[in-house]
Amino acid sequence: MDAQEIRTADAHQEAALAAAEAPFVNLADPARAVGPDGKPVVSRRAPLWEDVPDAQWNDWRWQLSHRVNDLDEIERILELTDEERAGLSAPDKFRVDITPYFISLIDPKDPNDPIRRQVIPLGREQQAFTAMMEDSLAEDRHSPVPGLVHRYPDRVLMLVTTQCASYCRYCTRSRIVGDPTQNFSRRDHEAQLEYLRRTPQVRDVLISGGDGLTLAPKLFESILRGLREIPHIEIIRIGSRVPVFLPQRIDDELCETLEKYHPLWINLHFNHPNEITPEVSRAVDKLTRAGLPVGNQSVLLAGVNDCVHIQRALVHQLVANRIRPYYLYQCDLVEGSGHFRTPVGKGLEIMEGLRGHTSGYAVPTYVIDAPGGGGKIPVMPNYLISYSDHKVVLRNYEGYITTYEEPPTYLPHDKAACTYCQHERPEPGQSGVLGLLEGERMWIEPRGFQEVHSRGNTEAHRLQDPSKWVPFGVGAIEGSAGAPRRELRAGMDPGGDPPASTPKHVYGPGEEPRPREGEPTASAHGELL
Ligand SMILES: *Cc1c(COP(=O)(O)O)cnc(C)c1O
Ligand code: SF4
Repeated sequence: MDAQEIRTADAHQEAALAAAEAPFVNLADPARAVGPDGKPVVSRRAPLWEDVPDAQWNDWRWQLSHRVNDLDEIERILELTDEERAGLSAPDKFRVDITPYFISLIDPKDPNDPIRRQVIPLGREQQAFTAMMEDSLAEDRHSPVPGLVHRYPDRVLMLVTTQCASYCRYCTRSRIVGDPTQNFSRRDHEAQLEYLRRTPQVRDVLISGGDGLTLAPKLFESILRGLREIPHIEIIRIGSRVPVFLPQRIDDELCETLEKYHPLWINLHFNHPNEITPEVSRAVDKLTRAGLPVGNQSVLLAGVNDCVHIQRALVHQLVANRIRPYYLYQCDLVEGSGHFRTPVGKGLEIMEGLRGHTSGYAVPTYVIDAPGGGGKIPVMPNYLISYSDHKVVLRNYEGYITTYEEPPTYLPHDKAACTYCQHERPEPGQSGVLGLLEGERMWIEPRGFQEVHSRGNTEAHRLQDPSKWVPFGVGAIEGSAGAPRRELRAGMDPGGDPPASTPKHVYGPGEEPRPREGEPTASAHGELL
């Protein structure tokens, strides 16, 4: 060994020692975030609960039993608007109940707070709209036993409770959710399990509600066990908003229970980045450590997340927490949701702003849950088969064709007031397809397009290449470039065939065949539009 080798070996040893002395702190993991005091970071608490001891605040049972639901109580936490007072005083409104943790995340002074809009009713909620339905997905019609929706060949939706940790104003199942008199009993669960035992084609069961994670832990476990005792059930998944409203519920005990029933998946429901708090990061970390793949289903909501910059911030925070965006839902045609609805074009615009611009992991599938009960239909070619100014026509995986009525009014996203739009993630050229959607340009022409002068304007026009395209009747027709030029005479097909024995009607420029009075008209997709 020479002197140089010794020095190198020493340096290595020193480096190894130094590494051993300073434990690595992963500052990127949101579940390990600590505050200046070295303790795990916590979210803001409304002043009303400042004096509640931490042990109680962090106890999910305390959170559930201290939910707020009436006007006077909420008035002590938020500065309410007149319309919110009207919403909270409406006699037949969908249930209001909000955990102290969740309502504390709201900015008490901001009437447009995205969390507030999801849980505090507005007077507008009572307004009916075209195509509104009570059970817009026809779930009751697809239920062989109460609470079990068997819509797809190989999987079912199992509603185990009508109760949630808090209630979302746009809830698809507001016809039953929140209503304790319509709750499912052990007897119903047993009937659901019995149906599944007798239905071997079901390999995937989605537990939802309401929210199964609000059930008493023993009851919830007995349902998981009942399912796992059925040999043909391969995967069980839970759809839950508990980690959003009540992250305290995701404790070690629950995770130890869940671990016993793998393969188990879970889908959560975040709509806005403000919902992803340090408490949520720690709860989701526990779920992923227990081996559950975690997904997210968002609903596209006007005034909450109808903005590509908000959606991008949301999906980035989701993947940073190892949550995989699964679906982005078009808002259903359900009572109470009128003012949350957006045009389908909004969702398409958001998808275009995500795909390619960010990790494929961060991009959900945009779906419309088919009105009338055809299941989730992705908004993409092959499925989106027609689109008018007020309706889209969609087909599902089985060929069932349905329509979605767009909202007649939509108050566009307020970019000037949106902090996400103001602090847009820098990425040049990301305004629609190269500025076309944003109106920065009107067209993009391929190379070789020439400017022609017409009616005093200079415009890029058709490709002036005679081998590709020659104006009809001026030179050769498509596909026969270079062939001898033919004159087109009245009564002659463009193909050049001589007139048939019965002369065809000749239409003048701009004329086209029209039905006579009383004759049926052909419209797109059998009159659906
Ligand atoms: C959403 C849903 C499912 C699951 O659908 P995936 O596309 O597989 O996530 C199953 N059954 C019903 C009734 C549903 O609404
Ligand atoms: S958590 Fe789900 S089921 Fe419960 S109110 Fe919200 S949308 Fe409805």
